Formats: sequence, C-alpha cells, structure tokens
Amino acid sequence: MVKKDSAYQRLQRILELEEKQGWRNRAVIGGAEALRERWVKDALAEGEDEATVQAIQALLTEYAQADQSTRPALAQRIRRLMAEGLPPEEQAPAAPPSEPVQPPEPTPEPEAGLEVIDQVGASRDRSRQDVPRPPKPAPKPEPERDLAPPTSVLGSPVTILRGIGGQKAEKLARLGIRTIADLIWHIPFRYDDFSKLRTIAELEPGERVTVVANLWQVKERKISLKRHMVQGILNDGTGTLRATWWSKWIAPKLQAEVGKTLHLRGTVGLYMGQKTLEHPEFERADNNEVAQGQIVPVYRLTEGISNRQLRAWINQAMKLALPQVKDPLPRSIRERYQLLDLRSALEQIHGPKNQDRLAAARKRLAFDELFYIQLGVQRRRHLFRQATAPALASSSELVERFWSALPFEPTGAQRRVLQEIAQDIQRTVPMSRLVQGDVGSGKTVVAAGAMFIAAANGAQSALLAPTQILAEQHHRGLSKLLAGMARSDGHPLEVALLTGRVTGSERERVLAGLADGSIDVVVGTTALIQEAVTFRNLGLAVVDEQHRFGVEQRGTLRDKGGNGGTGGNGSQELPRVPHMLVMSATPIPRSLALTLYGDLDVSVIDEMPPGRQPVKTKWFLPTERERLYAFLRRRVEEGRQGYIIYPLVEESEKLAAGAAVDSYERLSQEIFPDLRLTLLHGRMSGSEKDEVMRAFAAGEYDILVSTTVVEVGIDVPNATVMLIEDAERFGLAQLHQLRGRVGRGEHQSYCALISKGDSPHARERLEALVATNDGFALAEKDLELRGPGDFLGTRQSGLPDLRVAALGDTTTLAMAQEAARTLFQEDPELRQYPRLLEEVERFWRGHGDVS
Ligand code: ADP
Ligand code: MG
Repeated sequence: MVKKDSAYQRLQRILELEEKQGWRNRAVIGGAEALRERWVKDALAEGEDEATVQAIQALLTEYAQADQSTRPALAQRIRRLMAEGLPPEEQAPAAPPSEPVQPPEPTPEPEAGLEVIDQVGASRDRSRQDVPRPPKPAPKPEPERDLAPPTSVLGSPVTILRGIGGQKAEKLARLGIRTIADLIWHIPFRYDDFSKLRTIAELEPGERVTVVANLWQVKERKISLKRHMVQGILNDGTGTLRATWWSKWIAPKLQAEVGKTLHLRGTVGLYMGQKTLEHPEFERADNNEVAQGQIVPVYRLTEGISNRQLRAWINQAMKLALPQVKDPLPRSIRERYQLLDLRSALEQIHGPKNQDRLAAARKRLAFDELFYIQLGVQRRRHLFRQATAPALASSSELVERFWSALPFEPTGAQRRVLQEIAQDIQRTVPMSRLVQGDVGSGKTVVAAGAMFIAAANGAQSALLAPTQILAEQHHRGLSKLLAGMARSDGHPLEVALLTGRVTGSERERVLAGLADGSIDVVVGTTALIQEAVTFRNLGLAVVDEQHRFGVEQRGTLRDKGGNGGTGGNGSQELPRVPHMLVMSATPIPRSLALTLYGDLDVSVIDEMPPGRQPVKTKWFLPTERERLYAFLRRRVEEGRQGYIIYPLVEESEKLAAGAAVDSYERLSQEIFPDLRLTLLHGRMSGSEKDEVMRAFAAGEYDILVSTTVVEVGIDVPNATVMLIEDAERFGLAQLHQLRGRVGRGEHQSYCALISKGDSPHARERLEALVATNDGFALAEKDLELRGPGDFLGTRQSGLPDLRVAALGDTTTLAMAQEAARTLFQEDPELRQYPRLLEEVERFWRGHGDVS
C-alpha cells in the first residue's frame, strides 16, 4: 500500500520521528496541525481513498490536541488506516472527524481569510457530523457501538428530504444548513404563542404583538416619486387594523392573501384613532395551530425560504434522525441539575407543548453551551500548563526604567496591568493572560513594557496582528516606544516587521535575525506563523484582537518557543513555549469574563489616558440626514475626515456590500460631488481593503463609506465624524467599537446614530450609547439587554456562538460552572467521556475564527 515517497510514506516517517522524540508533536514544525492541510491535499492528489484520508486528517487534528500519553494510540490508528484503509463497517466516519474536509484547492494567499471580517452570515459549523456523505446505497442497520459517532442520516445532505432539491439546498446553505444535523440544530430565535393570542380590540398602542386576522383588502398609493405605500385592512371580528408597508414589492405578495387569515407581528400604533401595524412581518396562518393555541417556532430565514417550509423540513429531519442523536451529557449531571435529555429538549425546542416545557428545553440546551465553554476553558488551561516557558525576571527598577523612557505618564491601570504581567512571566508556568481595554486605553504600551522585560532577559517577543495595515501600524508604534531602549547587553532593541508584503532580501534578513536572536521584537501577520519562521528564543507572544484568529493559529505561534539555545533534547522535558498575552478591545463585563474564561487571567485597563475628549454622540432621525451631511461637509472643509457606515443585513453580506456600493454612488455623485470619497466593504480582497484604509489614513480621501469592515484598531486621528446609518441594526458593543474609530486625535469628535428607533429595545440601546463612552458600562448594559442567540454579540467578543444561552443567565452559568469543575477534577482529560470530549471540541472549534 505504501508507495515510495508518497504522502503516506512521509507520514510514516514523521510518526517514527515522533516516537523517537517522545510523542511531542514536534517532528514537524507547527505540529500535526500544520502538516495536515498540505498532507491531505497531497494524499488526495496521489489518488488515496478519500474517506480514509479524511479519517486520517481527523486523527491528525486529534493528535495535535491530545497529550503525550494518548498520542501513541492515535499514531497506531493512523498507521493502521494507512496500511489497511477504512474497514468496511467504519465507512461511516471512523473517528470524530475534525473540520469539514476542504476540497483540494490552491494554497490560499498567506492572509486570505483573516481579512474577511464582515461575513456575518458565515456561521460556525456546528454540524453534528462534520463530514457530510451521500446516503449509502443500501443502508444496513448500524451496529450499536458505544463510541460510534452519529450515524449517517445526521450527516446526510439536506437533499435527502422531500421537497429539497439543489436550489433549496443552496439557499439553506446560506443559513449554514447543509446536513440533516444542521437542520435539527437550527434553533428557533423566537416563538409565536397562539395560546396567548390577543384580539384586535385588546391591542394597546406601543405593544409588540402577534395578531391573527383576516385580510379584507389591499390598497396601494404612490406618495411621491420614491415613496410607495401599501396598506392591508385586517379584521378579526373584534375590530379593524390597518397594516402599512412602504415598499411596493410587498403588494403582489399581499394581494395573493386577500380573504385569507394571516398572522402578523409588529408594533401597534395609532393613526387618526385607528390601530395600525407598521411594517409587520406576516405569514398565512395555519388555522389548526391557531385554533389549538400552539406555540409556533420562528426561525432565522433567508430569501426564498419561508418559516413554514423550514418548519416542515425540520419536522421531517427530526422524525428521521432524532433516534440517532446521542446525549453526550452524563446521566449523573442530567439528574443532578434536573435537565431534560437531549432528544426531548430538541423535540420541545422545535415544537413546544407549552411554555413550561419550552423553558425546560431551553434550560437544557443553554446548559450544554455554557458547560462546554467551561469545560473547554478548563481543559485548555490544563493542557496549556503542560509546558514550560522561560522565566522572565523584572525588578521594579527595570519596570520604572521602561515607564520613564516614555514621553508620557502611564495611567494607574497601565501600571497595574504591567505589574500583573511581570508577576506571571517571571515563573516558568506559561502565562495566559487576556488584557482588555477600550480602544485607545493604551494596551499596546503595556505590551511594549512586557516585551521590554523579555528583551532584558535575552528573550524575543512577537506580536501577531490580524491584518497587514494593523501590523504596520503596530510596528511603527512599537518602534517609536522602544526606540532608545536597550537589552541587557546594552545593545539597542531591534524591532522588525514581517508580513506578506515583506519580501526578498528584507524577508531573508528578518528570518535570519529571528533565527539567530538578533531581532528582539517582531510584529507581523500570519506570515509570522509560517513554517519558515523560527525563533532562537521566543519568550513572549502577543496576540492583538484575539477573536480574529483561530485557536490553531495561536497554537502555532505558541509552538515556536525555540530551544533557547540551552539544548532541550531530553525527551522527558516539557515542551517549551512562550508566555501568551492576548489583547482585546471588546470589553466583556468583568464578572462575565472571569466566569467564561474560568480561571484564565484577565487584566482590565479601565482608565483612559488623560486629556482625551470623549466622542460626542447623538441620535438622529433619518429625516435629519441632510443636516448631518452639512455638518460633515463643514468638518471636511476644516480639514477633518469622516466615516459613513452602513449596516450588514444578516442574511446577506452581498446585500450589505450592495447597500454600501449604492450609497457610495449616490453620495459621491449627488451629495458630495466636490469631495473625495472612497469605499470599503467585505467583498473586497484583503489587499484592496488595506489599500483603501492606507489611502484614507494618509489623508488622500475626505470621507470613507464603509460597511462594518473598517478596522477596529485603525488609527486615523484626523477622522472626527462618524455617521452610522440604521444604527438600530447593530449591537451595543459593535456600535461602541465603531465609534472608537473616531476621537483618537486632538480634535473634538462626533458620532451620529441615524435611526428611526422604532422599537423600545432599539431606543434603549441608542440612549445607552449617547449616555456613556465607557465600554465596560456599555458591555454590562449589553449583557442586560442581550437575549439569547445574539450572534453578532458573541462573535464580537471572541466567544463561541451561543444559540440558546443568554449571557446574562447567571443561574444556568453557575450550574454549568459547578458541573464542569466537578467533572474536570474527577477526569481532566475526559477519558471516561469521549462523547462529551467530542462535543466540547466541536463547540470550541473555530472559536473566534471569523473566516
Ligand atoms: P490601544 O491599543 O489600547 O487602542 P494604544 O496603546 O495604541 O491603545 O494607545 C493609544 C494612543 O494613546 C497611542 O498613541 C499611545 O501612544 C497613547 N497613550 C497610551 N498610553 C498613554 C498615556 N498613559 N498617556 C498618554 N498617551 C498614551
Ligand atoms: Mg490597539
């Protein structure tokens, strides 16, 4: 089976080497994870059996994450697969497969993928079985093995269902639904409770309601050249209601429903004494459901798929596959916390019998999410500590020397956080510390201090930034901060930049300097974690905006600890890693950060450098837009710059980019024909985006029209105005981050939130933003307001997506934490709970990975 010089043969050799080196996952630089992608491509190109290669790929991922004691067994399984292929009864995936297998494709540009940050629709792959396979021609009943992964129906493509063909499947894929399991795990984001139906006579203005009524009539009226009003007159026997839409597209859809019973959802208004609903969502009512007072799930949808259709498919999927869903939660935990079993929970979440059962289902699913977070955090910390890092000592004089070399006084918070770091890194237990602070709070300065301490100890530091432009900005900043500082031997600190743009002899110079230790600090993008990069002695790794990187990428940086020039061959030695410092500008409430990150150390910079003028924030109605344009124009005439931000529509980044493109055309032709406008959106390539930002930062443009892709960390001090369109569509945290792009210089800055603010929830958020510039206060507020399934919210904070759990649900959080701690103490490797381990890994996979 083994061919000469084949991918299989190479892997054999690597495993031999691993064995010789004591299973340290060091035979390949970057470990099995780094090898995996290319190896899979090679093996497939060599015509190896695809299923076998996929199984090996999964094992390689497991191998990288396993500890030294379990690696030999994994290696044995890999060897057996290479020798014998996949045994027939294992033609369903042999091992918990890891990521969906990528079709072989040309190696992407080093930084592609990381640059794409506004793919809101791209949700984390949560399929219960990651490698989708076509249904088997003649499905034999699967033998019930305890460790058996979910069997094939769960992993089958949605097209096996009645009514789903290629076109519908494509649409479902936009929602992240590809397999039957994905359907089952498409959790409703709310419910229409027909058991608590209100009659039209009972409605009160201002309420958000669901009404069931008969559509009597549809009227259309052209209000102006652009405005088109469509009205539906509805009656339920107790009164009449007028529903209004401002879009002519709705008319034919509505005409088709005349005489039918609809259920509509919206906020009740009053107009000339008549009750109205503005722009309600509507759907034809199923009289059975209404009559029976059912609680009907409402799902996240995409164009061309109705809630009704989706519900029917989910029901079909449940019938087919629910018996195959295995509950990963040990019975003891289920009993102790009185949790539903997984099957019942799923059943009730998609078709609740009553509110109590629904609450129980939610509790179970929320518990799972929070429990996996806790287990993941504790497990990671445990694994993380199975390594050693160089002790980086610092006296108080040394730290003082750093502070006094700066052109400004550090804030109290900066001093405190650097002290916390200094204490961590003087030990050989690897540090893993999260530094949180609002944009501009001076995190980079603190990181520079830690780098200075490392250099004083003869160790190197690396800073990993998510994009080239941020790397370049950090490089300039750090070079300035560290200029004039010296290493222990009196040599001035050497600071280098390594990105995809650094090529040729300069790249050679940097690589050589990192390998021989003459470069003390390097700033870079993922170019830093490529195989060719080796360090003589990497003591400190700093990751900026950690949620922009996957766990794997951070892991790769960590693997570059180097040998410190002190040998390090003894096979019993722990692997040598750098201390890790992670910086984030997304404030997570402190209590929550501590809970979610378990014991991971969190430092907070909660004080701004003196002399900053807070950004003046105000909420405006869309009718005031012209005034805002005039205001922006005046600032530009004074020499300032500004941003105009358009929201992402969740369903479609294409639409959002489209909105920005359309607006850009209109703005540059009709509103600001004499000013210099430029455009930024997520459909542009990384280098295009970089170029636009660079030109804007250089003052070549007056106004940047953008979706939310405009960088969090970008520093354009001359930009002082930000207009945010449809501000109610953004989460609080995100609005605050957007606002952080202005107010970075000496000039007074302004942020205008443009919104109709027509829901109480939207109003509350906008008002909170107007009231304070304090990111942590806003984060607390966000937590309070945030319901379950706030995708944007959790994504922004770098946590895994929560579909059910509300972050503010401290009761369930406490339960999950206790359960995780108990279980972890008993069995830190989760050896007795392989299925649980699999779930935890799946849940955390791609955590923080935006692409
Ligand atoms: P962050 O990374 O948290 O956004 P930076 O470290 O980039 O913040 O700091 C933002 C700006 O404020 C930089 O220009 C930095 O030099 C400056 N700065 C940082 N700390 C202080 C301080 N204590 N006093 C005055 N300016 C400061
Ligand atoms: Mg920063």
